[in-house]
Amino acid sequence: MALTEKSDFIREIVTEDLAANKYQGRVHTRFPPEPNGYLHIGHAKSICLNHGIARDFKGKFNLRFDDTNPAKEEQEYVDSIIEDVKWLGGNFEDRLFYASDYFEKMYEHAVLLIKKGKAYVCDLNADEMRQTRGTLTESGKESPYRNRSAEENFDLFERMRKGEFPNGAKTLRAKINMASPNINLRDPVMYRIVHEDHHRQGNKWCVYPTYDWAHGIEDSLEMITHSICTLEFENHRPLYDWYLEELGVYHPKQIEFARLNLTYTVLSKRKLLKLVAEKHVSGWDDPRMPTIAGYRRRGYTSDSIINFCDTIGVAKRDSTIDVAQLEFSIREDLNKHARRTMAVLNPLKIVLTNYPDGQTEECEAVNNPEDETAGKRMIPFCKELFIDQDDFREVPPPKYFRLSPGTEVRLKYGYIIKCEKVVKDGDGKIIEVHCSYDPDTKSGMAGANRKVKSTIHWVSARHAGNVEVRLYDRLFVKENPDDAEEGKDFLSNLNPNSLQILKQCKVEPVLANAKAGERFQFERTGYFCVDSIESKEGAPVFNRIVTLRDAWAKIEQKH
Ligand code: ATP
Ligand code: MG
Repeated sequence: MALTEKSDFIREIVTEDLAANKYQGRVHTRFPPEPNGYLHIGHAKSICLNHGIARDFKGKFNLRFDDTNPAKEEQEYVDSIIEDVKWLGGNFEDRLFYASDYFEKMYEHAVLLIKKGKAYVCDLNADEMRQTRGTLTESGKESPYRNRSAEENFDLFERMRKGEFPNGAKTLRAKINMASPNINLRDPVMYRIVHEDHHRQGNKWCVYPTYDWAHGIEDSLEMITHSICTLEFENHRPLYDWYLEELGVYHPKQIEFARLNLTYTVLSKRKLLKLVAEKHVSGWDDPRMPTIAGYRRRGYTSDSIINFCDTIGVAKRDSTIDVAQLEFSIREDLNKHARRTMAVLNPLKIVLTNYPDGQTEECEAVNNPEDETAGKRMIPFCKELFIDQDDFREVPPPKYFRLSPGTEVRLKYGYIIKCEKVVKDGDGKIIEVHCSYDPDTKSGMAGANRKVKSTIHWVSARHAGNVEVRLYDRLFVKENPDDAEEGKDFLSNLNPNSLQILKQCKVEPVLANAKAGERFQFERTGYFCVDSIESKEGAPVFNRIVTLRDAWAKIEQKH
């Protein structure tokens, strides 16, 4: 039985199989990425599902690189995928496998099918094969090479392997049924000739197996029980089953589920690669990318991604999840764990005219109201402070309750101040605001409870650190980035304001010395993480992980 309350149609199948003692009580899943790009949030869903089932049913989970295509695969991708799977808690222990390590075995299996008369070498080229494949309503035409003898096929296949033929000259095809209503069963290709080096096998091979032929064998060799994949493979399942039955080998069960789609996000590796290659982003780990590496760098926690994957569940029908749900998940996690701090992104200088010149005092601040164990800290206060430009209006609009001439606000953890005078330069630009402070209104004093309409954040000018802050927004302006105008593609929907860099942000001392990867809430502003690549010792660069509230929904309505 499952150890958790979690339930979905796949867990139900696993439970039934266990009850029927189908695989001698074993549960063994795998995550089989092709190392042709970085992992994205859709892969996270697959990892959480496969690993989660193995964990919940006390089974095993493998990481297996499906590296059967030599052209697009690279070691960089292999390394990043291993890191990401581990980061998401995918515990594969010592079970890291490569499909390419099974090439010899696959070849032997192919020879077995040839000898059984179930596979043949075909000389049709790609075009001819397409023309004879038929359509959904029309059956295909049999290849003129279909009835070669087993001996001839065996000989030709060996010569294919030896490199006697150029790319595309021949293929090995399964001999199934050109009239099958399922096009995948119309003598599908098992091997193509590709004279190209493989990232692990070098030049050892020039025939490479197709996905359908390779995948079932990989699952079978690893004794996988439940081979979980996305819906587009549903029509391939009869082929998966046919291969394993004809080979007479151990036969796992393929189960399909709906892939994750997210609003304002592209999740196709081809498109993500395009964003990277054409430098629309700084790399696969750009904090705006929906890659695991991008989210991690931005400051998302693995817990929040795992929670998100659990919340959205597992479905049999494709649907699109609102990206706000992912943002909700990260907020929920950070609200519990991120330390509160004060940072002023667009500083405006405040001078407290009645505060003694050289004096400094400390204000006691709560590190996290959601977590008592986080304790308190002291923050310095003095005559000159910074507040955010947004918290002051010379001419306040209606219902504006923050600072404006003649009004009062409370400085969080500090005093109530009143705006007395606006100081401008020769061009009429505000350079500072003079205020008086009420010395009786600090926490613990008689006037501490005096009510004013707003509380704003601030930092002491003399003690503030100056840091760079990067405000990230959604990478695309359209809910469905692929919904582009005639003749244009998803790139035309890129958000031109997805990154805003602020270089003059004023922060309290604890932030000035923050270390790479540390996460904070900037009070009233959002959650931020110290960038692991751009930051230097004593000069942190902060990435905005997420705003405090879903501001986007409101902005959308205005348009
Ligand atoms: P893409 O379509 O972007 O090229 P892929 O499916 O080819 O992705 P793989 O490396 O083959 O990428 O994926 C590894 C595993 O992750 C597969 O089992 C696949 O079904 C699953 N997967 C990929 N994308 C998603 C997604 N959006 N949601 C859920 N699972 C996914
Ligand atoms: Mg794939």
